[in-house]
Amino acid sequence: MKGINKGLINSEQIARELLDRDNFLLLGHIIPDGDCVGSLAALKLGLESMGKKAEVLLQDQVPEIYRFLPATAKFRHEWSDDINIKNVVFIDCSELARVGDKIAANLNSSFTTINIDHHATNDLFADHNWVEPGVAATAELIFAVLKDMQVKLTVEMATALFCGLVMDTGRFMYSSTTDKTMNVAAGLLKAGVDINQVRINLFESKTSQEILLIRLALNNIIVSDDGRIAWITLPYEEVKSIGALGIHPESIINYTREIKGVQVGILFREISPGIIKVGFRAKGSVDVSRIAGKIGGGGHRQAAGATYEGSLAEAKETVLQLVKDVLH
Ligand code: 5GP
Ligand code: MN
Repeated sequence: MKGINKGLINSEQIARELLDRDNFLLLGHIIPDGDCVGSLAALKLGLESMGKKAEVLLQDQVPEIYRFLPATAKFRHEWSDDINIKNVVFIDCSELARVGDKIAANLNSSFTTINIDHHATNDLFADHNWVEPGVAATAELIFAVLKDMQVKLTVEMATALFCGLVMDTGRFMYSSTTDKTMNVAAGLLKAGVDINQVRINLFESKTSQEILLIRLALNNIIVSDDGRIAWITLPYEEVKSIGALGIHPESIINYTREIKGVQVGILFREISPGIIKVGFRAKGSVDVSRIAGKIGGGGHRQAAGATYEGSLAEAKETVLQLVKDVLH
């Protein structure tokens, strides 16, 4: 698979680099999603199957729904000097800062860095950057690189990658889903993925707190007068009062886009007082990664995000104006 960027730019080259090296630290982004978690798990298992050391470090915890992937139990969440690191591989991170402040503070120039990602807004921060914006999920890239490394795909690796694909493609229904994505999915099923187990864990194992959070979200949804923008607000205190502070379901924002006529859906989630995580979803031609970029974030054309420092009211005013400017 050919890449567009600088350094080692395709799966064959990345595979050779990974095979020639040892002692890897694999990093993902804060508030990790299924693509990030699944890709990390599969790459860790793949490298280990080739006799290499590979540790995964995530600043935030693995969301409950992905913990059925056994490799996630070995993920670390704090930097430790006992990890012998020579090479750092960034997975699904469009910028270095996405790994989180605590992890970023420990990175230094003695490591060789490799960046494997599918965000068009990736700023090519590593020594080697293999970035494929046309690909639906980083999991597709990991599938390709494991193949080029001649790793034997186990059921565990395949299940992890399948979770990544399912989550980043909206169960294979986003426009990023291509015939190649389906071919990768077919390869994963062939390797033994239990689709029933995946579906139950990802979509049919919600906690009561998650249901309360969905109820709160639906209670707080607003549609603009012209019907083209819908947004959900989740204030910190309201989320705290239902015991859902640590829960970040990837599906909540989708209610905005599910409304007929809505072109841009937004989620304003106050993750701590004065820190607002803004999520964007587009239906149609609006490129929300450009809107997110205006407040320091990024992502894809149809799914993007940013972190806004300030009050919820300010975040809403600023962001809704930016969206209106694009729509008019
Ligand atoms: P979500 O709304 O699901 O958190 O994120 C949607 C997309 O936007 C994902 O591809 C994610 O990587 C990206 N994204 C979310 N938050 C941020 C952010 O703060 N900065 C950047 N650069 N991208 C983000
Ligand atoms: Mn992804």
